[in-house]
Amino acid sequence: MSEHDHDHEHDPDHEQEGEDPRAEAEAEARRRFALGQIRQYGDPALKLVAHEVVDFDDDLRRLVDRMTTLMHEAQGVGLAATQVGVLRRLFVFEPDEDGPRVIVNPAVVERADETATDEEGCLSLQGVRVPVERSLTVTLEGKDANGGDVRWELDEYGSRVVQHELDHLDGVLIIDRTDDEHRKEALSTLRPRAVLR
Ligand SMILES: [Zn+2]
Repeated sequence: MSEHDHDHEHDPDHEQEGEDPRAEAEAEARRRFALGQIRQYGDPALKLVAHEVVDFDDDLRRLVDRMTTLMHEAQGVGLAATQVGVLRRLFVFEPDEDGPRVIVNPAVVERADETATDEEGCLSLQGVRVPVERSLTVTLEGKDANGGDVRWELDEYGSRVVQHELDHLDGVLIIDRTDDEHRKEALSTLRPRAVLR
């Protein structure tokens, strides 16, 4: 997901950075470079279903490090392996101030019946924001990068982020989840770029 999704939350460090034009320009250059390494709409990898991770090895941990760096530099709050063209079931996310988290082979084991609809963006669909209905709370189980068990109960923004990232592992994008009107509008934003690629 893109950072613009939580514009109601203010990060004092980030605002301070904004006062230094050179730091801001450098961050923007890093963001654009990171986005260039993230698969964009039209890339077939975004429509594919990722496979369960079997080996919790150095290769996996290197991938997690790379994805975490890309998420930060792209100024996103979540990034799934399919978005870097790797069809393995893992994603990184950072919905709050507690630092980046990774989950491998994630599964929603509980979800609230109650839902909420809010706008979402995506690092793979630049310039698009569409309303998506999500469960208010989910309990997520999976593994960390070393194969240890993790279990998180997430609500509000965290719940929305993990449902978005989990969708990526099944080849599902926010434009597949939104209503017809917003999908049509989003596609008119995305199509010219898809043709240029
Ligand atoms: Zn996304």
